[in-house]
Parts: sequence; C-alpha cells; structure tokens
Amino acid sequence: MAFLVKKFGGTSVGTVERIQHVAKMVQTARQSGDDVVVVVSAMSGETNRLIGLAKEIMPAVVDVRELDVLVSTGEQVTIALLAMALKELGVDARSYTGSQVKILTDSSHSKARILNIDKAPILDDIKAGKVVVVAGFQGVDEHGNITTLGRGGSDTSAVAMAAALSADECQIYTDVDGVYTTDPRVESRARRLDRITFEEMLEMASLGSKVLQIRAVEFAGKYNVPVRVLSSFKPGEGTLITLDEGENHMEQALVSGIAFNRDEAQITVAGVADQPGIAYSILGPIADLNIEVDVILQNIGENGLTDFTFTVHRDEYKRVMDFLKGRQAELNAEAIHGNDRIVKLSIVGVGMRSHAGIASRMFKALSENGINLRMITTSEIKISVVIDENFLELGVRALHEEFELADEVNNVS
Ligand code: ADP
Ligand code: ASP
Ligand code: MG
Repeated sequence: MAFLVKKFGGTSVGTVERIQHVAKMVQTARQSGDDVVVVVSAMSGETNRLIGLAKEIMPAVVDVRELDVLVSTGEQVTIALLAMALKELGVDARSYTGSQVKILTDSSHSKARILNIDKAPILDDIKAGKVVVVAGFQGVDEHGNITTLGRGGSDTSAVAMAAALSADECQIYTDVDGVYTTDPRVESRARRLDRITFEEMLEMASLGSKVLQIRAVEFAGKYNVPVRVLSSFKPGEGTLITLDEGENHMEQALVSGIAFNRDEAQITVAGVADQPGIAYSILGPIADLNIEVDVILQNIGENGLTDFTFTVHRDEYKRVMDFLKGRQAELNAEAIHGNDRIVKLSIVGVGMRSHAGIASRMFKALSENGINLRMITTSEIKISVVIDENFLELGVRALHEEFELADEVNNVS
C-alpha cells in the first residue's frame, strides 16, 4: 500500500482508448490498495493545436493571459474524460482543474512558478476512497487568473503535487519506458538507465532532454521527491531518479548520458572594442528584453578588437538579430552575423568530476566524424559543443559509441 502520484503525458491520453487504458492502470493500483492522485496532460497535439489557433488571430505578440486561458482547456478535457472512464470501471473519482485544487502560482503567464498547493480537499477525497484527477500544466495566481507552467509543465505539476502531499513516489508515465542514455528516437542503441541522479537528470533536462521538464527535476531535488519514469504501454521498473548514486554501477560511468538541444541559434558581434563593459553593453539590453542567452564566447582581443558570440533560443533569433543590427553603430561593431541552423550537443556524467581526458575523447570522436566544433563550454559534470544541425545524429551516435553507452557496464577505466 502506497500513496502515489501518477502523471500521464499527452501520448498516454492521446485517444479515448488510451484514456480507458490509463483508467485500468489506475484501477489496478487502487485494487492493490494504493491511494492515487492522477495528473494528466492534454491529449497529444492538443496544446500545439490551441497555440496554432491563437497565432491565427494574433500572429505577433500573443496576449499571454488569454493564451493561458486557451491552452489550459486541453488538460480540462482529459481530467473529465479520465474521471468518466474511471467511474465507468466502478472506481470513484473526481476531477479538478488547477484553479479548483488550488495550485497557486505567481503571475508569470506561460512560465508560472508554483507557490502553494491546497492539499486539504485532495486529502479529504483520498480519505473518502476517491481517485483525485488533477489537470497538469496549470494553476491560478493570487488574482484568480489562470496561469500555465511552460511546455512540458505537467511533469512539474505532478512532482509539486507529490511534494505537497508527501507521496511515496511520483510516477511519470510516458511513451518510453524510462530515461535512456540518449533520446532513443535518435540512437536506437540507447540503453535504459535503472537509476540516474537528480544532478545528472537536471543537466540532461536543461541541456535539451525533454523526457522531464527542468523545473520538475529541480522540484524533485529540492523536496527530495522520489521520481520514476515509466511507460504507459510497456510494464517495467522504469528509471528511478535518486539523490545519490547509490551502489549501482552508474558510479563507474564517466558519461551517463548524451543530451542535445535543437532549439538554439548563434549570433556574433564581430570587431567590437576589446574594453571593459563590452559584454554588458551587448548582453544587458538583451536581458532587459527578457531573452535568455545560453552559451557565451568572447575571443582574446587582437589590435584592440574582439569578436563576441552567444546563443539564444531559435524563436528569438530574428528578434535579437534585428535588435543588434539596429545597435551596430552604437556598439561600433564591424559586423553582426548569425546562424540559426546550429545545435548544442552535450555529454553528462558525475564521473567526469574525478576523471581527466573526457573532453579530449569527446573532441577526438567528433573530429573523426568530420564534425566541426563552433563553440565549447564545460562545467563540472558536462561538456557541450555547438555544431551544425546536419551533424547532430552523427554526433550523438559517435559519442554513444565512444563512451560505450550501449553496453551494460560502460566506461570503466
Ligand atoms: P510526454 O508527452 O509523456 O510528457 P515527452 O514527449 O514530453 O512525453 O517526453 C518523452 C520523450 O522524450 C520520448 O518520446 C523521447 O523521444 C524523448 N527523450 C529525449 N531524451 C530522452 C532520454 N534521454 N531518455 C528517454 N527519452 C528521451
Ligand atoms: N500540454 C502541455 C504541453 O504540451 C503540458 C504537458 O504536456 O506537460 O506542453
Ligand atoms: Mg513531457
């Protein structure tokens, strides 16, 4: 008997039949004595469809308040359908939207942060033997406005719910049966990990592995919520995200996973004065536009001039290019050029801390495949390179091979 929060993603609730399948899984858990709170996403494709409708009316600046009212409807459909499917099976259930629960957030529409969850009504329902079905991805601010938590945000709703309710485990059901060494859709030899540390999962998520939303992992680490990633379609143990490495073989791994991000674009401000304040004068106004900058590189100056390169989200590429071109004279830059056909490819592993030479193995493997590195950045447990997008699949496979990630016990040196 356990208290479980089970989250089902878009594909898992993508059709009526799949919703009925989810209801059966919840019924099985109830029959074995578990208390269950279910968090669901919108049916697959629905959030994109709703955003598309909004863009037809407001192509440029979308009204974020109304967009949140719109996109939150996707999850409202699934909670009602799942509650109905459960009742059809004779399982007592009750659905709640984020504002009914209530999941209190700040007012940052489309990227709101959860501040509090009113757990009393949920616990009352659980005590009364009900399954509680909560809409993921959404909340309500202190003024009663509907908010959403960013794409993939149902993961965060589920982990926050598990933390608030002190659940025994937060189970994230999706269309893969766990966290793999890399996206199994890109490298078919990717291997499922039995466990991964929060720290590594956080790096993987922030470097582009969309299997879990970054904030969900942050939340899980902060409140020490055990999270397990499982398949809705294939039974198994999935991947447990743990606080430490435990006694499993992962501690021998130098590299635990490969992540990539296809959403980046690179911009160079060339031939600017190599003097104090130049980075601030370029990036300060970009930060003021609320645009996030990722990798940053500044060359050593020559003849008093330097080149300054950085990456932003691809959706912001045109905006930043136009903005900087408008400031070219003011910055006294020789040229401003960019490329929105680049990707960031990264290796992640806590084992890197104690081993030298990982970077050179990475660079060697990529160079042997003729892959040019445009930018390089490292931190304690990750190394990232920016490369041409056409080389992404080749790069992922080369690194998977180099670090022997397909093998059961890998990287032992
Ligand atoms: P859901 O709709 O259930 O939230 P997502 O599409 O958000 O599902 O996340 C699952 C997907 O994440 C998988 O289909 C897979 O392609 C992708 N993915 C990326 N990196 C990894 C990884 N390292 N391990 C497993 N899946 C990954
Ligand atoms: N439906 C939302 C999305 O597509 C939230 C989620 O699925 O987690 O991003
Ligand atoms: Mg997701």
